[in-house]
Amino acid sequence: MKVTEHIKQAKGKTLFSFEILPPVKGKSIDSIFKVLDPLMEYKPSFINVTYHRSEQFFKRKTDGTFDMVDIRKRPGTVGICAALMNHYKVDAVPHLICGGFSKDETENALIDLNFLGIDNVLALRGDPPKNEKYFQPDMNGHHYAIDLVQQIEKLNRGIYIEDEIADGVNTDFCIGVAGYPEKHYESPNPDLDLMFLKNKIDAGADYVTTQMFFDNEKYHRFVAKCRESSINVPIIPGLKPITSKKQLSGIPSIFHVDIPNDLAMEMMKCKNEKDAEKVGEEWLLHQTRDLIKSGAPVIHFYTLGKPHVIDNVMKQIL
Ligand code: FAD
Repeated sequence: MKVTEHIKQAKGKTLFSFEILPPVKGKSIDSIFKVLDPLMEYKPSFINVTYHRSEQFFKRKTDGTFDMVDIRKRPGTVGICAALMNHYKVDAVPHLICGGFSKDETENALIDLNFLGIDNVLALRGDPPKNEKYFQPDMNGHHYAIDLVQQIEKLNRGIYIEDEIADGVNTDFCIGVAGYPEKHYESPNPDLDLMFLKNKIDAGADYVTTQMFFDNEKYHRFVAKCRESSINVPIIPGLKPITSKKQLSGIPSIFHVDIPNDLAMEMMKCKNEKDAEKVGEEWLLHQTRDLIKSGAPVIHFYTLGKPHVIDNVMKQIL
């Protein structure tokens, strides 16, 4: 079922969803089931699976020279989505990115998703690879997420890349896009960022999932600004537990979001990692309760390796 249908059927009740990363190449899918098994009792409406582009590395050859090799460390997004649907009978939301994909490869991936009965796609640009400063589209690939939204929307109308495909099957994907309560780090200012978000909605996106934030006021202000700009689709808040002191600098540098002073000060007082995790859990609980109270359509947890923290929070709110 589509994310937007889940929201409609909930009639104002806040739903829950989780996000997982595919395991690193060579690991079993059991590592995913181990993370999700304890969380499934909370009946998530859907589970997102991230997509990771390949990165280039130098590999030393036997003669001492180096070869540049392309390695995808976390393959398997589409396969994991199919496995989740099969194993848990839950809707899966694969992330699709522009980076590293040509338009043809994107079309083929969408055809696979359609054959698998997957109804949702989160359409993203993706970040530049670690060794590059600026995002570069693939040759014959998309530059911005909006271009990907447009391609999916066209396929939903049966329009394929090759003109010769007349009477092509219409897909029916529900399209999600990313939104940034604290502005996307490359955007010159929040207003332009909002304008580009509005363009993604006008191009056919059905809902927004936000970047993580630790101050709910930022989400509430972002939703108000979106509504003022006639962005009227559901805006799903993304929450991540902060569980260690290291993340006080790690999260802002990777995700370009602030850690509120109260949270940072409490974390800094912690004598060990267990105490730090407790502080992060309390903060997440407080954020979750406030978002439920204010009528958030879904709370999307970035599950990332700390499922027991999400588990503890869910226990206290249900
Ligand atoms: P876009 O919407 O294309 O925006 C990128 C930047 O370009 C923004 O600054 C925007 O303001 C600007 N912009 C947009 N359109 C134009 C235009 N026409 N002209 C000029 N500027 C423009 N990354 C992954 O690699 N894999 C994942 O699975 C993944 N999942 C994510 C899930 C969520 C919920 C979020 C919030 C992010 C996720 N990301 C993921 C990270 C995301 O790919 C990066 O944040 C990326 O840098 C931007 O993606 P976007 O889809 O927001 O891009």
